[in-house]
Amino acid sequence: MTKSFIESSLAQPDLSFETPIRPERLADFTGQSAAKERLEVLIAAAKHREEVLGHCLLCGPPGLGKTTLAYIIAKTMGTNLVVTSGPAIDKAGDLAGMLTKLQTGDVLFIDEIHRMSRTVEEYLYPAMEDFYLDVVIDSGPNATSVRLKLNPFTLVGATTRVGALTAPLRSRFLLQCRLEYYQPDELQKIILRTAALLRTSIVNEAAWEIARRSRGTPRIANNLFRWVRDYATVHCGGSVDLDTALKALDMIAIDQLGLDQMDTRILEVMLDLYNGGPVGLTAIAAAVGEDAETLEEVYEPFLILQGLIRRTPRGREMTAAAYTHLNRNTP
Ligand code: ADP
Repeated sequence: MTKSFIESSLAQPDLSFETPIRPERLADFTGQSAAKERLEVLIAAAKHREEVLGHCLLCGPPGLGKTTLAYIIAKTMGTNLVVTSGPAIDKAGDLAGMLTKLQTGDVLFIDEIHRMSRTVEEYLYPAMEDFYLDVVIDSGPNATSVRLKLNPFTLVGATTRVGALTAPLRSRFLLQCRLEYYQPDELQKIILRTAALLRTSIVNEAAWEIARRSRGTPRIANNLFRWVRDYATVHCGGSVDLDTALKALDMIAIDQLGLDQMDTRILEVMLDLYNGGPVGLTAIAAAVGEDAETLEEVYEPFLILQGLIRRTPRGREMTAAAYTHLNRNTP
């Protein structure tokens, strides 16, 4: 099955598009004032004392700016950034290879840190705490352990599921920041900034319309803008007015609330097959042909945020607002 616009936006970031528009300073990073303020204090204090920045954990749904903040942290500290992800660090040796190359103050960004294997995670503890690694060489009776001293570094971990992180790993971060979904006015600002960087003229109303259908997520806002801009280039000379934005958004079936076809299918399945719930996530996943993890990470948080479904101890349930949204009568 082809992925929906929302899912492919979130699953496969297009770096050739995202890199030039990624903010490089905290001042250009819109919203998230609580996280920003805390990072500002941490960075200013570390710079003042000429120390390496403490380890930070960034939590929140995909596309909200976790990677961007890691870039900003490294840039502001004037250090290098090394990017990897939990599933990519297969063996302790992979981790050792990466850590031993870091220079003092470098930032190691581990995306999806909750998906790192437990063995690798245990190697990480002394590296985070005291900047050393115990590497086991050889196996069986010949096995010996060698202690490698590391340069002090900053680990920035990102996770969409903070609950899946072990307590010992979580406790080794000095700062934990939870990123929240963005308000439409913040997304409008991000879209206007992206448009200016890409030299595209767009009216405020069109940026607002894209913003309010972007599920509170900058990556989706930028991708929807990109689509609207392509549509405008083909149909009306490149400038984006409200009418162009509405037609372009209708064409990819993103509705007034920002729901796409998959969101609507989820609600329809809940209603038509399970009388509006309660129903388990795996049953919904099987019925819509999607895996339960994607449903839980990508679709469900937004449907809950919009007040269309709620979690109960017995499963997911549709709310009265969902019946109204589908134009169906409440039972
Ligand atoms: P995550 O790592 O949480 O999945 P990213 O940091 O990759 O998200 O952000 C996705 C895209 O959205 C980035 O390319 C960036 O351009 C944009 N973005 C994210 N947060 C902001 C923000 N606060 N202000 C401006 N642009 C943002």
